[in-house]
Amino acid sequence: ATDPLKLLGALAPTGSDHARPVDGDPRAIRRIGVIGGGTAGYLTALALKAKRPWLDVTLVESKNIPIIGVGEATVSYFTVFLHHYLGIDAAELYERVKPTWKMGIRFDWGPGTEPFMGPFDWSADSVGLVGAIKDHGNINGSTLGSAMMMEDRAPVYRTEGGDPLSLMKYVPFAYHLDNGRLVAYLTELAQRRGINHVEATLDDVVLSDAEWVDHVRTSDGQDLSFDLYVDCTGFRSRLLGDALKTPYQSFGSSLFTDRAVTGNLPHNGHIVPYTQATTMNAGWCWRIPTREDDHRGYVYSSSAISDDEAVHELTTRYPGIKDPRLVKFRSGRYEKAWRGNVVGIGNSYGFVEPLESTGLLMIATEALTLVSTLPASWSDPVPRDAVNVGLAQHWDAIRWLLSIHYKFNTRLDTPFWKECRETTDVSGFQPLLDVYAAGAPLSRRNAIVQDLANRVAPSFFGLYGIDCLLLGQQVPTKLLELDEPLEDWRARDRASKSLVSRALSTREALEAFDAHPELNRQLLNDADSWASPAIAARMGLG
Ligand code: FAD
Repeated sequence: ATDPLKLLGALAPTGSDHARPVDGDPRAIRRIGVIGGGTAGYLTALALKAKRPWLDVTLVESKNIPIIGVGEATVSYFTVFLHHYLGIDAAELYERVKPTWKMGIRFDWGPGTEPFMGPFDWSADSVGLVGAIKDHGNINGSTLGSAMMMEDRAPVYRTEGGDPLSLMKYVPFAYHLDNGRLVAYLTELAQRRGINHVEATLDDVVLSDAEWVDHVRTSDGQDLSFDLYVDCTGFRSRLLGDALKTPYQSFGSSLFTDRAVTGNLPHNGHIVPYTQATTMNAGWCWRIPTREDDHRGYVYSSSAISDDEAVHELTTRYPGIKDPRLVKFRSGRYEKAWRGNVVGIGNSYGFVEPLESTGLLMIATEALTLVSTLPASWSDPVPRDAVNVGLAQHWDAIRWLLSIHYKFNTRLDTPFWKECRETTDVSGFQPLLDVYAAGAPLSRRNAIVQDLANRVAPSFFGLYGIDCLLLGQQVPTKLLELDEPLEDWRARDRASKSLVSRALSTREALEAFDAHPELNRQLLNDADSWASPAIAARMGLG
């Protein structure tokens, strides 16, 4: 089933990407039931309605079962998804959700005590990756984004005329989105865009055969029937897992963590322009800035420490965190996302810890896949196999990407980290690791090597993301030659530092965007922006 030719064959008969049902077809797919009102449910419902407005989309959610309520750091792909694919107005998002910016991840990871930056403008190589390592032994400062992250600034400037000048359209960035505010905003948007809303708890899933849902029954006695059911019930996976008994594939041999304790910490107005991932005794801790405070979460392995020990370590390291909250999870995915007339999206289908902020990225990818492959009728060829293999490959590549964070992190020698270095399963990336050992950066290797390596690398992160992680953690390699005098690199580094020294603090830059909507218009409309309409279209997000 993983033969690419067979997959392509399975997709071929689907014809138009956004086919409309024909009148009178009893097997037409018109009525979509999205079960679950977390980010997966709302983003899927909005995606379906945005691209196939003729569909009758109903979102069913239970007020008695809370949303997971965490999950706030995103990737730059998601910024384009929100504004171009879903058509969300930037000014409205800023007003309602009050995002902060993420130019990348700051990792307190790898050897020594220095952090390393994993910036989203990795592909620009604007200062130079090899030069940075030759100059000072680590990857920091290799791009303008990286240099900004190190000083907690954003490339927005005050001009003499008073109007701000923004270079954000040249530095890809993502949002940190407060989960409560995001879901409240999406709920309102769904209502405005004609998505039906049913508040009810699904009690029973009634099947007409092993792979077909006939209707769902709610605890208040309603029978709800749809042509397609999208399972967005989170970890409960009420349809894909519970009702259809889809086999589950654990990622447990690569990812050992299974819990998080979370809490908020005052930042006194200091907003950092990145997500931070800090090594802890039995896992790691995130820092996600919001406008009001920093959100923290210690992701750990319950077989290495107890919940009380995790709370103690978190609150000792970051005094001021009150009322820590426990979240349990497991890493893995169901074998298939699409069975019969059920598609799982979000945590109901797959989940990994948020080390690379892949939750919302995968929801966007899954929703996009559903919208672009859903046939107009169940009588048409249904590309389930292609979708199932394609999405599984996305998830598995992310599993391997996360595994190399654990395999090579030498910052601590606790029993947990020793075990990670000894036993983490990185087999899905081993050939890539061998290629890396023979010469890096991977993204500067010759075209043939890059082409082959790219087939293994997770989309969005690509070889640039893998380079950041391996070179950032200083995993041994033969570093490629610098193809310029080091003095030239240093001149660029000085120019970059000068741009950083005059840039606004992140808080001031965000306020400039709040007050000057034209800055977002430049970002989303200008042809030379990383988030331009043409680039969105090229990414399939137009
Ligand atoms: P949920 O939010 O759990 O929503 C499930 C919905 O289903 C709820 O509305 C519930 O009411 C409904 N439901 C359930 N059962 C029933 C029923 N029987 N009847 C009716 N309705 C029902 N992702 C990122 O991108 N970035 C991050 O930084 C990040 N951090 C995370 C940190 C942690 C600790 C965890 C666990 C996850 C994190 N994620 C992150 C992932 C992210 O939170 C989720 O992927 C995302 O919120 C999607 O959740 P969901 O909508 O699938 O599920």
